[in-house]
Amino acid sequence: MEKWSEQFNIPLPDCAQCGTCCLLATPSVSYKKLLEKAAAGDQFARDFFSIFIPYKNHEQAEKICESLVKRTIKSCIDGINKIPVEDLVFYRCRHYHYKKQCLIYETRPQLCRDFPGSPFVLLHENCAFYQWAKDCKKAYNKLKEDIQSLKKQKKELEDMKEQKRFEDLLHRLKNLKDNDSRFMLILPSLSVISPCSSWLK
Ligand code: SF4
Ligand code: SF4
Repeated sequence: MEKWSEQFNIPLPDCAQCGTCCLLATPSVSYKKLLEKAAAGDQFARDFFSIFIPYKNHEQAEKICESLVKRTIKSCIDGINKIPVEDLVFYRCRHYHYKKQCLIYETRPQLCRDFPGSPFVLLHENCAFYQWAKDCKKAYNKLKEDIQSLKKQKKELEDMKEQKRFEDLLHRLKNLKDNDSRFMLILPSLSVISPCSSWLK
């Protein structure tokens, strides 16, 4: 997150400790894939299963934040989130206490410390990082547009240079067309094509 803030000069807010992300989590891979990753030793997947337990269905998750669940489902339908809707699972942390909040705060895993990690994570509207993520995405998209525009300008410049180079070459060839011997000296390879006389005549 720090690198996004530094890159776009957008201050990183402090977590408001509202607990929503503890009660409504969705990783970017399906439950099955995450299990496979955990079995293969992936630290994030292992940490995730060490604290999160799945909701039985989407309706249970909607009780925490209906709009976030609906936005997440929509992102799957739109193909932004690669998880098929039928494989989408929401989770809650087993260590969250409604009054005391995080019961293992001092030893919470790295994934909690890093959250949200990127501005492209879907967030609850009241999350302290919601506006930060919006601002970062806006700055990122602007940067992408600027890069595209620069690439286009570079291509146009290259085309202009190429055209100028071609015109210069034509001009030089015109000056040479009455003098085959000089022409052969400057462009000897063309003498293979037309060894006896200039093809410009
Ligand atoms: S370990 Fe603590 S900070 Fe992490 S999700 Fe659970 S309650 Fe939230
Ligand atoms: S939802 Fe946002 S503000 Fe709330 S605890 Fe999580 S990171 Fe902090």
